[in-house]
Amino acid sequence: MEARPNLRVAALLVAAGSGVRINSAVPKQFSPILGKPMLCHSFGSLRRHPAITQVIVVIAVGQHEAMTAALGEVEHVFGGSTRRGSVAAGLAALAVDPPDVVLIHDAARPFLPAQVIDRILAPLVTYDGAVPGVPLADTLARSEAGGSARLMGAVVARDHLFRIQTPQAFRFGSISAAHRDWQGDDPTDDAQMVRAAGGSVALVAGDDRLDKITYPGDFAAAEARGSSMRVRTAMGFDVHRLETGEQLWLGGIRIAHDRGLSGHSDADVALHALTDALLGTIADGDIGAHFPPSDEQWRGASSARFLEHAAALINVQGGVVDFVDLTLICEAPRIGPHRQAMRARIAALLRLRIDQVSVKATTSERLGFAGRGEGIAAQAVATVRIPEEI
Ligand code: MG
Repeated sequence: MEARPNLRVAALLVAAGSGVRINSAVPKQFSPILGKPMLCHSFGSLRRHPAITQVIVVIAVGQHEAMTAALGEVEHVFGGSTRRGSVAAGLAALAVDPPDVVLIHDAARPFLPAQVIDRILAPLVTYDGAVPGVPLADTLARSEAGGSARLMGAVVARDHLFRIQTPQAFRFGSISAAHRDWQGDDPTDDAQMVRAAGGSVALVAGDDRLDKITYPGDFAAAEARGSSMRVRTAMGFDVHRLETGEQLWLGGIRIAHDRGLSGHSDADVALHALTDALLGTIADGDIGAHFPPSDEQWRGASSARFLEHAAALINVQGGVVDFVDLTLICEAPRIGPHRQAMRARIAALLRLRIDQVSVKATTSERLGFAGRGEGIAAQAVATVRIPEEI
């Protein structure tokens, strides 16, 4: 779903809370989560979204320094003492050059998937507003006063009940009028004000990653949700020639054999295929790009260094290697007697358990170069998980 290109969309990031429930000197929206101040995450999601052309951060008086430390000097306004007052200040700033649509988002919901923004923008062609909602999964019940404990009271039907999240999207005229005309107590969100003013609000699918951070204990769970990992699988392939007078290094170990593999490094065809598979998972070129054969420093080098380098590049991205699978293709030597030693060596190099490393072997039925014993081929597949930036 694409936002209509003819609608000009602005966003308000409401970050003016004092965070009293977090019981911290630093308001929660400036507290670190997944390595950066909380509001950086959703600010980045709003700024990166192609439909959004303007983002205004609403902060409290006294928070300017914290905001610039987190985001740099970005467009901002100072909010009121209530959430409603803060949103109203943001709307007033936008009213100078009104957009067609405004998204209003709470900084206490740091992980904002782009797909949710797509979903709330789509209905605005027809409706005054749109909100993301998550259906309730738990049984709902009232509590009753008991003796020494509270008692579970009557169950409340949960059919058609949703938890309403932010961001919420509105036609600018509708939300401005709703704020201006609101008569009730301080509302917990903006959509109820639009409804009270007679506006129509679409309910679209929300996302658990958007759940609000309210209490100190929410941080760890939110980090686990926010750092969703994407599984990547990639392959590698390599061939080296067997020649007399060379040592045979295969799968990270030295094997006694009448010939060895020739190449610029130790020519460990198995580790080369594995290295390429790992580099493939982060789309970071191939072994030749990282360790050019023209570079003298890699002459005779242990291929263990290449494999460790590829693993380190994955590690830098916060990635985790889950599994590697290797197939060696040769008539000789026989791989079976060395399989466990290869698995143990590869596991040690990649800091994996041995059950995360598979080593297999096959012949090519005496066909082709491998069948004639002229060389050894290796295929590898690696599966990793890489953090997904949302
Ligand atoms: Mg090679």
